Amino acid sequence: MQTIHWIIKDITKKDHAIKEAGSVIAQGGLVAFPTETVYGLGANALDGQAVKSIFQAKGRPADNPLIVHVATIEEIAKVSSKCTETAHKIMQAFWPGPLTLVLPKTDSVPKEVTCGLDTVAVRMPNHPVALKLIMEAGVPVAAPSANLSGSPSPTTAQHVIDDLEGRINGVLDGGPANLGVESTVLDISNEIPIILRPGGVTAEQLEEVIGPVRHYKGLENHHSQISPRSPGMKYKHYSPKAGIILIEGQAEDIVLHTKELINRYQKENKKVGVLSSEESAHNYPGTEVLHYGKRNNPASAAAVLYAALRSFDLLGVDIIIAEGMPETGLGKAVMDRLKRAASSVVRL
Ligand code: AMP
Ligand code: MG
Repeated sequence: MQTIHWIIKDITKKDHAIKEAGSVIAQGGLVAFPTETVYGLGANALDGQAVKSIFQAKGRPADNPLIVHVATIEEIAKVSSKCTETAHKIMQAFWPGPLTLVLPKTDSVPKEVTCGLDTVAVRMPNHPVALKLIMEAGVPVAAPSANLSGSPSPTTAQHVIDDLEGRINGVLDGGPANLGVESTVLDISNEIPIILRPGGVTAEQLEEVIGPVRHYKGLENHHSQISPRSPGMKYKHYSPKAGIILIEGQAEDIVLHTKELINRYQKENKKVGVLSSEESAHNYPGTEVLHYGKRNNPASAAAVLYAALRSFDLLGVDIIIAEGMPETGLGKAVMDRLKRAASSVVRL
């Protein structure tokens, strides 16, 4: 299959690329598109066959359900039968934006989208290209991240091409995704809402609008056999080819331990990559250092995290040592992704 590369020139003018991409989706094809979180791989959410081809293109496990993307609040009626007051409050506050709600599903949502669950995950992305594409397609769009399953999520059209060229109908290039981590997935079916996956909207922001929320704790360990509430959470995710050792603790302790590990691996003739904060990057000469910005600026870390993990692959490092950051605000999502990507976690 030839993958068309549409470059968006001016979203304010009539952009034929988006119209064309929308009709590809309407006809059952697969189109990757930019959102504010990461690039998504979209198909008509009401067409089971089209949705099935997303799983094939990505090599995604068949029991990991997809998020359905809508362009208007009214469009939710096509996929969900019941929207509570809390749901509306959350939509008003956070849509369009990086917040996914798990809602009861209608019969028109095929089992391929939800992997047989009786709920459907829905969000409205905050990106002009994504919103226009959904409008042009005329249907809700099911879309996971547009990468090969297991590898770091794509934050540029080039990342999508590197992973999926020849496996999808096209990619809309709207520049880099600026947030850089996926949406927060929220379950509001209990009295106290549960964050199933931390993401772009923080627990602190949610609590300002709906009061206390809880973090889903049932699956800290992705090797667990327990049937998870948010099925995608049981898989190891977001990993570059080299193993990652994630180090958590106070900044000074992390630096000391990282130096020790570098020594150890260099003695074994291994090429070491370090993902560090900007403040401590100078501590690791003789390694491939990529920094994620200031230790207390998780927004900067989120924006560069996946691109950095992909760069380590291109640099051909044998092992990556990653400095952890505080889990406040967006730091929670950054650390969640790093823990899922890591082959081991050291807590100092
Ligand atoms: P991805 O598309 O790879 O960003 O992952 C989508 C996330 O949403 C995964 O963690 C899924 O498990 C979660 N998800 C999708 N649908 C549902 C649902 N109906 N109930 C709970 N979690 C869901
Ligand atoms: Mg994904």
